[in-house]
Amino acid sequence: MHKTKKVKSAGRFGSRYGRGIRDRVVNVEEKQRRFHECPSCGFNKVKRVSTGLFRCRKCNAVFTGGAYYPSTMGGTIVKKMVSQRKFLPMVKELIEAREETAMGMLEKKQRKKGKTAEGTDGQKPKKKKKGSPEENEAAAVEQASEEVAEKEEKEEANLEGAFEETKEEGA
Ligand SMILES: [Zn+2]
Repeated sequence: MHKTKKVKSAGRFGSRYGRGIRDRVVNVEEKQRRFHECPSCGFNKVKRVSTGLFRCRKCNAVFTGGAYYPSTMGGTIVKKMVSQRKFLPMVKELIEAREETAMGMLEKKQRKKGKTAEGTDGQKPKKKKKGSPEENEAAAVEQASEEVAEKEEKEEANLEGAFEETKEEGA
């Protein structure tokens, strides 16, 4: 088959589905088809077998991961939460990570600079609270979701204010 210089793996779609969508497919497939590092032997010999399933061609280790990559943002946060048993400080990080992945690729690039990670680290003193781990966890989830809700309310209020101002100007 002929090689494509510009459209890469999305060349198989021809001119169909639109430029933006084909670009996004290329973005994912480039990373998906790469050799990844093996968590078992450390060699760069892991290939994706199927959705969420990866196999090392060096040591034959088979393991699960993200649908397209061996590890994902959300997956690593949850793994860390489980291994460190720190559900409290990291819930907010997880919520933010989810929101950002929903927002798209531009946001992902910004996140790589590590701005959000620094912000959540300051929350660790919460651990001082006494009570059962379950209670603490529930409280943290509540607090995190409240903070998100507060942010949204503020943004809405700002928007409404702006609308009223424009109305007054018009009248
Ligand atoms: Zn291996």
